[in-house]
Amino acid sequence: MSTRSTEPSAVDLHAHSTASDGTLSPAAVVERASARGVRTLALTDHDTVAGIDEARRAATVHGIRLITGIELSCVHAGKPLHVVGLGIDVLSPALNLAIDRLAATRTDRAMRIGARLAKLGIDGAYEGACIESGTPMPGRAHFARWLLARGVVAENGEAFDRLIGRGKPAYVATEWPSLAETVECIVDAGGIAVLAHPLRYQMTASWLRRIAAEFRSLGGLGVEISIARQSPVERDVAASLARRIGLLGSVGSDFHSPGLHAAELGAFPPLPEDIEPVWSRLAA
Ligand code: AMP
Ligand code: MN
Ligand code: MN
Ligand code: MN
Repeated sequence: MSTRSTEPSAVDLHAHSTASDGTLSPAAVVERASARGVRTLALTDHDTVAGIDEARRAATVHGIRLITGIELSCVHAGKPLHVVGLGIDVLSPALNLAIDRLAATRTDRAMRIGARLAKLGIDGAYEGACIESGTPMPGRAHFARWLLARGVVAENGEAFDRLIGRGKPAYVATEWPSLAETVECIVDAGGIAVLAHPLRYQMTASWLRRIAAEFRSLGGLGVEISIARQSPVERDVAASLARRIGLLGSVGSDFHSPGLHAAELGAFPPLPEDIEPVWSRLAA
């Protein structure tokens, strides 16, 4: 009897903390990962490496391997994409310049989301989301939490479906950096660029192949294949994409928060055996 696919993965290369829109501190994410049997963890907060130092100290305490990471927001051919950078030097000047610019973009966008919500009769959202995030650059998840806490929506997903999701009245189109700049800055920082959750962009198969091929030609090396909350068919599609384009495979939960329906650390199936794991290229 094989229970392999239901056992937590020992490698999880996509997780969030309070440094971006997760609800656990970096140290608590590491502790939870360790308790769940994860031995190699990448902390990949949105557009920041602010949680890495704390996570690194906690990883030493818990005896697990911490891979430095980030999930960068970018745009390519008019489509917003996420690229995970793994094994990056967090002191890289190019990376830190990109992070500073992203912070300015996020602050501006958050104020505009607040203004849109105010026009819809929902006042104080920017300030509330800032308190949720503890920063002046709250993400949409922080707005969703504030809207939920105020009773404007009954659940997180409703905030996106009705107000702040793409095409909804409080959605603000954002001028993210290009995919080319994003991959370049990860490579500059000594990291490996991985195309995050390829099946979540609502693209046709041909668009996805085009984007993945362009990502590879720009220096991208990996694509996420085994992730939490995805169907076996979606995993097969991602694996076929990796084989066809010649990308390494990555895995990760995209953990944000403990909870019944939330993506949990290490909770996803293994990579298909013929796919080379991206972590084989990360320095020990
Ligand atoms: P941002 O980077 O600020 O645009 O926020 C994107 C984040 O919002 C994602 O990483 C998720 O954490 C969250 N998110 C996006 N769409 C949804 C959704 N439909 N339901 C719940 N959370 C979502
Ligand atoms: Mn998020
Ligand atoms: Mn993402
Ligand atoms: Mn993520």
